[in-house]
Amino acid sequence: MNFEYTDEDKEFMQSFRNFCKKEIEPVADEIEEAGRVPAEIFKKLADLGYSGLLIPAEYGGLDLGYLRATLAQEILSEFCGSTFFSVGASFGLFALPVAEFGTEAQKRKYLPPVLSGEKVGCLGVTEPGAGSDVAGITSTARFVEGKYILSGQKTYITNAPIADFMIVLCKTISEEGKATGQTSFLLETDRKGVSLGKPMKKMGLRGSPTGEIFLENVEANEEDILGRKGRGFLITMEAFNRERLALGAYSLGVMNACIRESKKFAGTRKAFGKLISKHQAVAHMISDMIIKTEAVRLLLYETAWMMDHYKDKQKKGMVLHNDLEVDMGARVAEVKLMASTYAREVCNLAVQIHGGAGYMDEYKVSRYYRDIKLAEIGGGTSEIQKQIISHSESRRL
Ligand SMILES: Cc1cc2nc3c(=O)[nH]c(=O)nc-3n(C[C@H](O)[C@H](O)[C@H](O)COP(=O)(O)OP(=O)(O)OC[C@H]3O[C@@H](n4cnc5c(N)ncnc54)[C@H](O)[C@@H]3O)c2cc1C
Repeated sequence: MNFEYTDEDKEFMQSFRNFCKKEIEPVADEIEEAGRVPAEIFKKLADLGYSGLLIPAEYGGLDLGYLRATLAQEILSEFCGSTFFSVGASFGLFALPVAEFGTEAQKRKYLPPVLSGEKVGCLGVTEPGAGSDVAGITSTARFVEGKYILSGQKTYITNAPIADFMIVLCKTISEEGKATGQTSFLLETDRKGVSLGKPMKKMGLRGSPTGEIFLENVEANEEDILGRKGRGFLITMEAFNRERLALGAYSLGVMNACIRESKKFAGTRKAFGKLISKHQAVAHMISDMIIKTEAVRLLLYETAWMMDHYKDKQKKGMVLHNDLEVDMGARVAEVKLMASTYAREVCNLAVQIHGGAGYMDEYKVSRYYRDIKLAEIGGGTSEIQKQIISHSESRRL
């Protein structure tokens, strides 16, 4: 076992951290107020290679692997959650499935403008009537006279209000009216019949726009299908699996930030004639924050390492790791569940250490506390992660 960073890792992390401190941290509050991440930040992150962390070199990516991608996502999240989510929806939720399942023509059309940060992508799965229950979506793609006619509504979609391109999941219906599974469609958002809702007002991550997509008799053809007809559910599950690992990295980044801000505050604020850090109750809160953070770090990094190490050795999602059979889908669910739960607890402690100041927008922990809740909901709720883990275990009983 070796948990040491290589010199290359250290150099990569240091330069990315320097960039985030210089370019992202100073504008995090402005991003929140503006309700969106400036286009220049998409472009600057793209120039640094952040857009292509997991994209093969032939499509302009760096293909650094999951562990390095995790380290970069953790650092970005430490400085601005909204930026992490908004660029993540474009570079990750949209571009990665295109790189993995798209045709050559689709990759040539969609990847360069998104990976350069010029255009924005999103992934539309959730609907007003179905979120956790992805199989229960009701948007349809009816096959009529050689074309698909898409109708339905998507909601809570990250980047929808600003997206140029989208992947949308629909139930496919044959000419005879028979349901033929779910299919992912890859479309421009200015196609006739598509309309985008206004940014929704929300509790946190206010700089990452969230909204609806309306599909009213949108025409699509075979070339607009991502992957194969009827494979949309599997493509979506693959995208969610990656998102869950990334949400582990987001949670860890926020925990790092909470510890940093809490130590700073506890080391300057006095009560009863001494620094609050000298009060044992406060010092113990920081101990609790540290152990939760380090537990997440270990599980997350090891899982990211396993995703890289066993990339081509998985059989139906199972790998043999230290003589144990590991279901990688369940392992990623464990990371997401543990990281988001602990991160919410750590944010709560950070606000508590700040006292009244922690309730004020002027202090960063107030934003972390509002933002972190999404980690327990997006990419599949905590309850769904528990389902995934328990189903995987019960299969092996
Ligand atoms: C800010 C934000 C950004 C988002 N971005 C995107 C995006 O980019 N693309 C996208 O497609 N979606 C996106 N979502 C949607 C998100 O993925 C869903 O909100 C989430 O999957 C939960 O679905 P739901 O809201 O319909 O809740 P529901 O599925 O209705 O769940 C409600 C409650 O019931 C519980 N529940 C449901 N089923 C079960 C079960 N079988 N067992 C136990 N408990 C259960 C849930 O855990 C939850 O507590 C976003 C959401 C938010 C808030």
